[in-house]
Amino acid sequence: MQNKILEINKLLLSFFCKPYRAEKFPEPIDMLIGTILSQNTNDKNSYRAYKNLKIKFTNWEKVQKARRSTIEKEIKVAGLALQKSTTIKTVLNELFKRNGNLNMDFIKDMEENDALEYLISFKGVGVKTASCVLLFSLNKDICPVDTHLHRTLNRIGLVNTKTPDKTFFAINKNFPPKIAHSFHTNLIRLGREICKPKGYSCGVCPTEKICNFNEKNIERVSRNSERAFMLLDHI
Ligand code: SF4
Repeated sequence: MQNKILEINKLLLSFFCKPYRAEKFPEPIDMLIGTILSQNTNDKNSYRAYKNLKIKFTNWEKVQKARRSTIEKEIKVAGLALQKSTTIKTVLNELFKRNGNLNMDFIKDMEENDALEYLISFKGVGVKTASCVLLFSLNKDICPVDTHLHRTLNRIGLVNTKTPDKTFFAINKNFPPKIAHSFHTNLIRLGREICKPKGYSCGVCPTEKICNFNEKNIERVSRNSERAFMLLDHI
């Protein structure tokens, strides 16, 4: 598994190059809220919703005290605003109840599994959201798995799994050090631009030579490269 991950990473780096990464890692609480906003929408809209929250409230204490409906209004652009505003309020209230403040820095000192368990203990926070905090904020060797990673890694044949969470646990048992960010980010690009759910373009795919998918579409050469902006690198 480790060798194949390294091989896929190498092929993706040659094709897409090393992805942008902010020099300063965001605070865990910022990343947690940003990732909640990013669910089921595109990165540009979730970025706008995140900025709206920051401009309107300036800090998370004010968001916690705000009416849920006011939060919903500010994040409408990200979609699922009722669900996301409820999760944000619930997480902030629960964090305050447990610790007496909204500082989440203590998870920086936790072991990876403990930090993951802690984050998913909040209602509305799943494995994908928690693992994004571990990678993008805490810089752990943990690779979050969304639908793009789940689909592409199953097609390539690295895993044979039914859900993104099962793919996550399969690849993260012993993930190679220092490549989780590039592997994750470039696989999202692969899934968005080339290995799309339908109309995938194996003829221009950098991992074609090691991909085991038995329904390859070699003829197709279209590529969508307009969606390279990644919200979680801009929190
Ligand atoms: S070769 Fe085709 S199926 Fe395999 S990863 Fe590339 S685009 Fe997807």
